[in-house]
Order: sequence, then C-alpha cells, then structure tokens
Amino acid sequence: MNDERIECPKCKWEPDGGAYWTCYCGCNWNTFSTYGKCPECGKVHKDTQCPACQAWSPHPDWYLDLENISIKVEEKASAQE
Ligand SMILES: [Zn+2]
Ligand SMILES: [Zn+2]
Repeated sequence: MNDERIECPKCKWEPDGGAYWTCYCGCNWNTFSTYGKCPECGKVHKDTQCPACQAWSPHPDWYLDLENISIKVEEKASAQE
C-alpha cells in the first residue's frame, strides 16, 4: 500500500507503522501516516523525533523520495485552509 521509503536521517531507523509520536494535545499516532499532522487537533509538526536515536529532524528529511513527498506535503498543507 505504501511505496514511500522513510528512514531517520541520523541513524537510518525505519518507521514500522507504530504510533511512537505524541502531540501537544495528547494524541498518539504514526506521524508518517499523516505527513506530520496530528489527526486529533490538526497541528502540523514540522520536526520529527526518532524513537530509536532520539534526534529531531525536519519531517521532510525522513522521506528518501523527496521530490514526490514535497508535493504531497504542500497539498496536505493547503487542503486544511
Ligand atoms: Zn534515528
Ligand atoms: Zn494534536
């Protein structure tokens, strides 16, 4: 279902679909399923922390297929206005 390649820019950890991320609103979810946007409150998180090495990286840096993903992120961002 998903041919996007995603990995931590720092340690190369690959997300396994787990809900490792927590929003300010308390929501736990898999940030890569929504391109960093909280499904509860709609907050877009520009930086993403790696659960493996704890390092923060800009969300788009996680996607190896950056050209396609930047378009999707823009679409998502403009769709909420
Ligand atoms: Zn990492
Ligand atoms: Zn939230």
